[in-house]
Amino acid sequence: MTLNEIKNAIRNVPDFPKPGIQFKDITTALKQPEIFHQMLDLMAEKYRHTKIDYIVGIESRGFIFGAPLAYILGCGFIPIRKQGKLPAEIISQEYALEYGTDKIEMHKDALKEGDNVLIIDDLIATAGTAEAAAKLITQAGAKIIGFTFAIELSSLQGRKTLEKYAPVFSLIQYE
Ligand code: AMP
Repeated sequence: MTLNEIKNAIRNVPDFPKPGIQFKDITTALKQPEIFHQMLDLMAEKYRHTKIDYIVGIESRGFIFGAPLAYILGCGFIPIRKQGKLPAEIISQEYALEYGTDKIEMHKDALKEGDNVLIIDDLIATAGTAEAAAKLITQAGAKIIGFTFAIELSSLQGRKTLEKYAPVFSLIQYE
């Protein structure tokens, strides 16, 4: 299977959730077992020889790839969630949206100093979300060993922001 076949399985939905946005819909890829399998295998291959203690997945589509990847690589999975969802003591980080701000949270005791962490989400656009996740992990004293995404919207140059923290890997790229 080629990367092009994976790309063809991702549906583009114009003007969702608002005019001008080209929404990359992964549901059409996830429902095809051989495509989903291959996406995970390619991500896992990249990190097979890297020491990772935890995959940190960003709610909610980061969970879809993050949890099976943690299983394949034999490491733990930690969720970063939207505000108000985690039950125990949390640390939080605000980040800018196009209009206004949003907040993500992680359990305060999820990571300890020196843990090696891979951050995962389905897609990188401006990188605001992933950078907020990086700040949480840094605040916890853990070490970011990389960021991985199924999809990268290259023209938004989010990669530049994240490369200040750690290397960035994406499976499929769009302009
Ligand atoms: P950003 O913080 O700008 O990098 O945006 C990344 C987050 O927004 C990810 O969690 C994505 O799931 C979502 N997202 C942003 N743009 C798109 C898009 N064009 N298609 C699908 N999801 C998107």
